Amino acid sequence: MTATHVPGLPVIEDGQLISTNPATGAEAGRVPVADEKAVNAAVERAREAAAWWQGLGFDGRKTRMLRWRSLIVQRIEELAALTHSETGKPLTDGLIEATAAVEHLDWAARNAKRVLGPRRVRTRLLVAEHSGHLEYQPFGVVGVIGPWNYPIVTPVGPISGALAAGNAIVFKPSEYTPVVGQWLADTFAEVVPEHPVLQVVHGFGDVGGALCRSGVGKVAFTGSTATAKKVMAACAENLVPVVLEAGGKDALIVDDDADVNLAAEAAVWGAMTNAGQTCIGIERVYAVEPVYDRFVEAVVAKAGKLRTGEEIGPITMPKQLDIIRDHIEDALAKGGRAVLGGADAVRAPYVAPTVLVDVPADSSEIREETFGPTLTITRVRDADEAVEKANDTAYGLGGSVFGKRNAIRIARRLRSGMVAVNGTLTFVGMGNLPFGGVGESGFGRIHGADGLREFARAKAITVRRGPSLLPAMTFERTPAQVKQIVKALRLLYGRKP
Ligand code: NAD
Repeated sequence: MTATHVPGLPVIEDGQLISTNPATGAEAGRVPVADEKAVNAAVERAREAAAWWQGLGFDGRKTRMLRWRSLIVQRIEELAALTHSETGKPLTDGLIEATAAVEHLDWAARNAKRVLGPRRVRTRLLVAEHSGHLEYQPFGVVGVIGPWNYPIVTPVGPISGALAAGNAIVFKPSEYTPVVGQWLADTFAEVVPEHPVLQVVHGFGDVGGALCRSGVGKVAFTGSTATAKKVMAACAENLVPVVLEAGGKDALIVDDDADVNLAAEAAVWGAMTNAGQTCIGIERVYAVEPVYDRFVEAVVAKAGKLRTGEEIGPITMPKQLDIIRDHIEDALAKGGRAVLGGADAVRAPYVAPTVLVDVPADSSEIREETFGPTLTITRVRDADEAVEKANDTAYGLGGSVFGKRNAIRIARRLRSGMVAVNGTLTFVGMGNLPFGGVGESGFGRIHGADGLREFARAKAITVRRGPSLLPAMTFERTPAQVKQIVKALRLLYGRKP
């Protein structure tokens, strides 16, 4: 590392992007930076690779993707160590993150044929002499743009779905975690050496912008809501479809029949894991009156035991420290109280666990993504008020409910893409469930069957099976035949259900 490096801040020197450990400032690695020309060249190469990859068919792709999966598992410690050196997150967190990524990769590889394979559909009245066929065809080249907070699992989700569907990938990792991104592409190339099916291009936002304009068939973006809007605008220039996985302000509801201790444990983990830098992290809790005091006490006891610098790693992006401090100060200035941590919790590059109560609904801690190990707990009358307050946000990514009798009903009423009942963040561990948000959290889905369909175009084909008995869609039809068709229509659909 040269003296000019600020810990955690990526820099470009002599055409190389250098990432550093946010806690120590030690250089994590360096990779070549791409420009618009390099991005376009990568997409060109990917086009040829895509044709070859698609030609392998579902079974050929599955075998290769499973080989990649096994290689990742064999070298999982190495991947976790790289993730630690670029983000500062504890090694154990890196291992668990990689485990989730492996689950998604495995599921997509094994299930693509069933979900996306060609199928026949039943014929219908107007075209009785034709058979119907449905196929899911890949886009060709998919651009994947990733964030730094979960540099393994966030890109591997869309990459797995897109690869399994038959696409080649050009991946732009976050400038904070380029080495992890490079590792993913390099290990893939070890098991698929024939063609550049998964390439990586490095750089800042301009490189992501170039990828949006490079002629890719689809862009899968994961990152902040502000950038998601820029990505969508850039893709709109050429009507390139997008899937946007953006920010969140997830809520956890504690109902009166909840296991309070379990709820507190999950709230602390959901809020503080990865030092709170989790898109689906719990940032707000709404606890009903009868359990509120016990819940706050349990959260403070558990969060108070976490060691900053151990379980709570550094804040990866130095500029986020100011946002976290501003949110805490705003909450306290508006009448909130810190029952743990508080205004002096921010000690760069760390933030000590902070639990705030009585925070007004108009403060930034309640309204904006804080992305630090802070949690607000709000007392509510009942579950109805909890749902109303939880949904009073522009975001809608995940969420959590603790309770027994009504927990599932409450979960359904939360305006979000995912909800964990009596757990937090658990849905990300299931490769067979879709993942994605509503509102300012984005749209489209990764993971699961929906996440596979996101990376393919539905293609409809009809095939004539024989002569037309009741021709409808031709100038050759006679009035008598049309009468017959209407008669058949009445028989089929005319009766009251
Ligand atoms: P970010 O928006 O700053 O950057 C994300 C990526 O976009 C980076 O690779 C960046 O270089 C690139 N980029 C920046 N400007 C661009 C532009 N104009 N055009 C194209 N690409 C551009 O986000 P971040 O700080 O890396 O990640 C944190 C954010 O991501 C948080 O808001 C978090 O909630 C969100 N996130 C969401 C999910 C999800 O699945 N919904 C998952 C993880 C993180």
